[in-house]
Amino acid sequence: MAEYRIYCVDRVSYGNHSHIDAVGAIDGSGTVHRFSREEVFERIGAGADEFHVIGPTSGKRSEVTRYRCELCLMQAIRSEADGVPDNNLDNQNPCLGGIITGPS
Ligand SMILES: [Zn+2]
Repeated sequence: MAEYRIYCVDRVSYGNHSHIDAVGAIDGSGTVHRFSREEVFERIGAGADEFHVIGPTSGKRSEVTRYRCELCLMQAIRSEADGVPDNNLDNQNPCLGGIITGPS
């Protein structure tokens, strides 16, 4: 099992909402990885790896989990809602810059 800290996200817009499309993550040895949404989803589901976010200001950790979007039925990822804004997966800085417009 490997643990990854997600530090940036890329998002794609699907009409009236958006999803994480890819993430940048650092493993325990400090190596940087880039994973697609599908890769994160599958790695969590297989029980192989854990993903989390640590708030840059709060220092608080939030685990990343899988869910199925009710709007587009996509298999998506999000962080646990703990009321701490800076460890929310959606609030991490973009890896590549801004929201990409996807299929709507
Ligand atoms: Zn959706």
